[in-house]
Amino acid sequence: MTWTHALTGAHLINGEWVASGVGFAQPCSPETGEPVPPAFGEAGAAEVEAASVAASVAFEEARDIPHHRWADLLEAVAVRLLGLGDALIDRAMAETALIEARLVGELARTVTQLRLYARIARSGAWLEAVIDSAEPDRRPTPRPDLRRIFRPIGPVAVFGAGNFPFAYGVCGGDTASALACGNPVVAKGHPGHPGVDELCAAAVLQALGDTGLPAGMFGLVQGSGTTVGAAVVEHPACEAVGFTGSLAGGRALFDRAAARPRPIPVFAEMGSVNPIVLLPAAVRERLDAIAEGLCLSVTNGGGQFCTKPGLVFLVTGPDADRFAEALGREMRRVAPTTLLSRSISGNFLRRAEALGSAVGVETLEAGCRPGPCRHSARLFAVSSAVWRTNADLHAEAFGPCTLLVICEDLGDLAATIACLDGQLTGAVFAGAADTDADVRRMAAILERRVGRLILNGYPTGVEVCGAVVHGGPYPATTAANSTSVGTLAVRRFVRPVSYQNLPDALLPPALQDANPLGLERTVDGEATRGAVAR
Ligand code: NAP
Repeated sequence: MTWTHALTGAHLINGEWVASGVGFAQPCSPETGEPVPPAFGEAGAAEVEAASVAASVAFEEARDIPHHRWADLLEAVAVRLLGLGDALIDRAMAETALIEARLVGELARTVTQLRLYARIARSGAWLEAVIDSAEPDRRPTPRPDLRRIFRPIGPVAVFGAGNFPFAYGVCGGDTASALACGNPVVAKGHPGHPGVDELCAAAVLQALGDTGLPAGMFGLVQGSGTTVGAAVVEHPACEAVGFTGSLAGGRALFDRAAARPRPIPVFAEMGSVNPIVLLPAAVRERLDAIAEGLCLSVTNGGGQFCTKPGLVFLVTGPDADRFAEALGREMRRVAPTTLLSRSISGNFLRRAEALGSAVGVETLEAGCRPGPCRHSARLFAVSSAVWRTNADLHAEAFGPCTLLVICEDLGDLAATIACLDGQLTGAVFAGAADTDADVRRMAAILERRVGRLILNGYPTGVEVCGAVVHGGPYPATTAANSTSVGTLAVRRFVRPVSYQNLPDALLPPALQDANPLGLERTVDGEATRGAVAR
């Protein structure tokens, strides 16, 4: 089903496109610097209030909507997104300078995500119904009838990242996992791609109409994070935040949410340096292959992935020297890439210059800047002793660069990686002659610090499936017990409610005696689809 949406530069509030008088962003092509019309207005207090209240009202209306209807909605969003066809990809290319193949792939992943969460919504498995029958004759105290399920948490504020306009955008994973359980969403558009965000919001609006669900279930407000974004999070109707972006942005919103009179959870998925640990035999046995694979992982998409490997740990010696030379050679071959925006380009330049001029850091591949936002890849090296004492060298450098950390021996390697902060991923490369004990030792250190532990593989490319974890201890996220990708992501936006001694008529259908939804439930410790008797 193909359809079109003419961009308005307005906000989506309760099913209507509402223009605000205040100018906010005129998107510009990162490639040429030319304006990409239209200009977008900034939401004021009235628009934030209206979108938040609409979400709150929709949440009340949605209370008794059967869970399979949210599956219908997500499937309809997928159809509507695809129905926008080239217009969506063209707009994303104009606003972000990401290449067509990358965006086509990301859109496919976004559709996969929507369909995955639709399956979860339809199964009702996320409700996790548990029934513990009453034991009126138990001594010394009788046991009451207790039943528990997960319920939606309420309106969720969603902030997408600039580097994934679809998959982590206004109808990306956070929105899909929130809607899957019947939570309304108020999305804050990203200043780097407001037009893409409006098109995606229009797709959700159409899908709400297609499925006959309340229009207030989804709103979009455009504007700056520190004003509009903060106001959405601070609004009393907001019950949780899903954020993908920088550490500074995620932390600022986390602090704001914590400072509210009634604090709310913030699931901020932030940057990461995704350490790679190269054991000596791996370097010796597969030097060229690892250099080639690592170069691709560091430079693909301009290095603008949250899973880009930004630190590589290895043990000093002739093999390490040859590896550094091979990696530098590979990086020199990579064509310069246009980064997402002038601000990201400027930040990358500043960060690369800071790395290059830090005491004890050697520049192995200096890179160049052939256009305002175009950069070639950079490679740096530092000793473990210097790296350990300079916290600035531990932080993410968003863009095509990586830092080799050269350790004295295996003991120093273990002690050095133990200084790492929380990460989305960590990888160990082992060769045939590396001992199991060494692999286990490094893996055990990384496991405490990462959400996804990888053996002999690269971190870029996040599979959307049940077993994946895209999360990790702070500062990778603000909630180490969560993931923003995969089936477990819905857990962020539900809360368990227990019902004690309620008669059937007052219970949610998922917990009623006859099991009218046909769910698999845990009844007195046993999994069953059967009815229960009182
Ligand atoms: P960003 O600058 O933090 O922006 C993300 C969103 O947060 C934008 O809407 C931004 O709006 C808002 N924001 C930023 N600072 C804020 C503040 N102080 N208060 C309120 N809102 C604020 O991130 P980005 O540049 O778009 O994305 C790149 C970063 O995201 C990288 O660090 C990358 O590693 C990370 N990332 C992480 C993941 C993951 O899953 N962990 C995935 C993709 C990207 P304004 O600009 O208007 O303030």
